[in-house]
Amino acid sequence: MSGSVEMGRIPVLDDLGDVSGKRVLVRTDFNVPLDNGEIADDFRIRAALPTISWLTDRGASVVCASHLGRPKGKPEPKYSMAPVRERLAELAPGVDLMENLRFHPGEEGNDPAFVANLVDGVDAYVDDAFGAAHRSHASIVGPPKTLPSAMGLLLQKEVDVLLGMRNNPKHPFVAVLGGSKISDKLGVVEALLGIVDSLVIGGAMCFTFFMAQGKPVGASLCEPDQVETCKRLLASGKAIHLPDDITGVDANGAYATFGTRLPDGAKGFDIGPGSAAAFSDIIMDARTVFWNGPMGMFEDDRFASGTRTVAQAMADTKAFTVVGGGDSAAALAQFRLDDEVDHVSTGGGASLELLELGDLPGLQALRGAPNAAQ
Ligand code: ADP
Ligand code: MG
Repeated sequence: MSGSVEMGRIPVLDDLGDVSGKRVLVRTDFNVPLDNGEIADDFRIRAALPTISWLTDRGASVVCASHLGRPKGKPEPKYSMAPVRERLAELAPGVDLMENLRFHPGEEGNDPAFVANLVDGVDAYVDDAFGAAHRSHASIVGPPKTLPSAMGLLLQKEVDVLLGMRNNPKHPFVAVLGGSKISDKLGVVEALLGIVDSLVIGGAMCFTFFMAQGKPVGASLCEPDQVETCKRLLASGKAIHLPDDITGVDANGAYATFGTRLPDGAKGFDIGPGSAAAFSDIIMDARTVFWNGPMGMFEDDRFASGTRTVAQAMADTKAFTVVGGGDSAAALAQFRLDDEVDHVSTGGGASLELLELGDLPGLQALRGAPNAAQ
């Protein structure tokens, strides 16, 4: 990407000019959870409605396009857009929806011929699919090369919140990280270390840090190949808070509580009550908190309390609170606290990459659109 494109501003809906009578392609994130072919939650469809009605209220005709699931470049009936199309017709009558973009290999392959197909007969392009904005796929980076383009309202909110937090946070700024694998999140952990005042580590991630401290982790989930990285992070001089009590199961599979050294065969599945209270205090005293990754295997009730305590602190603190990650968002929703935080990001990988790099391929593409350079 050239410097000027990188520095330019990202066009917003107003930058499309008069859309009356125009055909507008909207890249949405309709990657909804499905249950036996039925939509289990239509949140992502409803979330796109503000952008869609912004356009239709101004006389545009809208065609949406999305991927759904992971078909491998060919049609797979179970990933058909039909159920989404049906729901969309109820919520936004008259709006068209293309078939699953990933039914065609040109989507993930960013094939120019597939892009040409997408933009055929279209006058303008709107990207509202934050969850896919870190992918250089045809529907994300292709249309802005030729069409007047803009970010939709959802994408704009994500960018405003996440870049605002990354570039101009109120301090103390605390990142609370958990989940299953540190290797998934290493880039963002390192990037966050440069901007946060402290890191709080829970989830299975903490066991790789324990290993780096020379502590036995029993049979807990951990990543020996990341031990050197964790040693380096621990030596960085930043405040890194690790749990000092753990709950899990012993070698016989019975519920057990531990300190930070786990016996042979034991598995740690959650942070203990002492750690949860300490993490909660840190969150209460912060002015900005980013949380990604559950503190334990919260899907099992016995190991949900660490995640629940942290989620409650996120709800109670006066800090500006942002939650990223599909499972973290699911945990918040399970505890009915999703309305109590300032922002729940819809993009797992995209939110981490935006925090890490400060930019995404989809945003760079929009900055390069023909209407962006004014
Ligand atoms: P997110 O989707 O919020 O980014 P991740 O996908 O990284 O979160 O991790 C979520 C998963 O991590 C959950 O399914 C949870 O059960 C699992 N997990 C958290 N702590 C542990 C642990 N100690 N042992 C095993 N799995 C864990
Ligand atoms: Mg996840």
